[in-house]
Amino acid sequence: MSDCIFCRIASGEIPAGIVARTAEAVAFRDLNPQAPTHVLVIPVQHFAGLDDMASADGARHLAAVTALAIQVAKQEGLSEDGYRVVFNSGANGGQSVYHLHAHVLGGRKMAWPPG
Ligand code: 5GP
Ligand code: ZN
Repeated sequence: MSDCIFCRIASGEIPAGIVARTAEAVAFRDLNPQAPTHVLVIPVQHFAGLDDMASADGARHLAAVTALAIQVAKQEGLSEDGYRVVFNSGANGGQSVYHLHAHVLGGRKMAWPPG
């Protein structure tokens, strides 16, 4: 989707701080980090959000995103102390970009419950 900012990051049309990439998923640094490490992981293929991931095809892409999130956490040195992976879904979930993405947050103690 040419009007989707994350599709344009995945294609390389818009620059981003890419930290890892597979054939199916891309990881890049959030423009407005909420923790010392804040990386977004997206499927290369456009899906608007979590509600679109229930099909077999969606689940395969979701698995690719999750696997890359785990790899990024390891690569960023977060695995030992722990980290948080978040999918914001819809308006009440705080989603602002409608291309599915996982937030990988680490480098500080996270609060619970989240705000
Ligand atoms: P959401 O609120 O949808 O869960 O998360 C969207 C995230 O994308 C936000 O944390 C925001 O800072 C980040 N973001 C929005 N536009 C851009 C951009 O153009 N580049 C990067 N690297 N991050 C972005
Ligand atoms: Zn997109």
